[in-house]
Amino acid sequence: MKITALAGGVGGAKLAHGLAQILPPEDLTIIVNTGDDFEHLGLSICPDLDTVCYTLAGLANPETGWGRVNETWNTITNVEKLGGPNWFRLGDQDIATHLERTRRLKGGEPLSQITRDFCKAWGISHTILPMTDSPVRTIVDSDEGELAFQEYFVHRQCGPKVKGFRFDGVDVAEPAFGVREAVESAEAIVICPSNPWVSVDPILRVIPLPKKKIVAVSPIIGGKTVKGPAAKMYAELGIEPSALAVAEHYRDLLSGFVLDNVDAHLSDKIRTRTLVTDTLMNSLTDRARLAMDVLNFIGSL
Ligand code: GDP
Repeated sequence: MKITALAGGVGGAKLAHGLAQILPPEDLTIIVNTGDDFEHLGLSICPDLDTVCYTLAGLANPETGWGRVNETWNTITNVEKLGGPNWFRLGDQDIATHLERTRRLKGGEPLSQITRDFCKAWGISHTILPMTDSPVRTIVDSDEGELAFQEYFVHRQCGPKVKGFRFDGVDVAEPAFGVREAVESAEAIVICPSNPWVSVDPILRVIPLPKKKIVAVSPIIGGKTVKGPAAKMYAELGIEPSALAVAEHYRDLLSGFVLDNVDAHLSDKIRTRTLVTDTLMNSLTDRARLAMDVLNFIGSL
């Protein structure tokens, strides 16, 4: 079954990894949000793209879900000693990724080509594509004014109250090479359990989905996020955070929705076919099991 998955960082990467354990490389393409990308210390940093790549390559830090396993922090520690910014933690191995990516971007190569080459070097056989090769930047409108996404997310630790979001550059951003074809040729599209507001919405703005089998997995379990600000964002925008709110978020797009056992009582209120299962991915086995559940569900639609 040919699947295209849409993913942000930590939550998206886990399900994408599960799907990659089951589907052969020619049957899975993962399209990743680049709205979180930013420039820091002169480097081009793509947090979601790197999280998905490191996860599929088996190089991700299993404790944080982002960054590299067996990481050292000499560079950022020394930047800090020189009085430089240290709020965005960059490990030494991770910095190598950003250095080489920045060098090639400055040489005029598209992000999608660089990502393809990095995936090859890391031994990833499935296709991982940035949603676009053009700069798109998520801006959080908050009670403390407009904040660039990483300023809100990492520096301010999601403290400011959100009022809305803007994706600078999205109106002129073309889908990266391969994205349109991956969406059109897929038998089904899986929206991974990523933050709907800031991980999935930017992708949907760049590549509106055609009418076909589309299944989303809820990143909200029992009214809470496993990690990150999605539930807080729903609440601050005046919407009760729940799997139902996520299903409503994607409304007309969906042919099916996957929610956790603890949210089974919401299933009747969801206006599409549902699968109620264990959606928490604490282990590698959990990722593959949820991916298999999602694929079987798609097969039943
Ligand atoms: P970010 O860009 O790194 O914040 O990553 P994502 O947007 O991809 O993922 C954040 C979302 O993943 C949060 O809303 C989490 O609740 C969700 N998430 C993380 N781990 C899991 C999990 O094991 N199961 C489910 N269902 N959601 C998860």
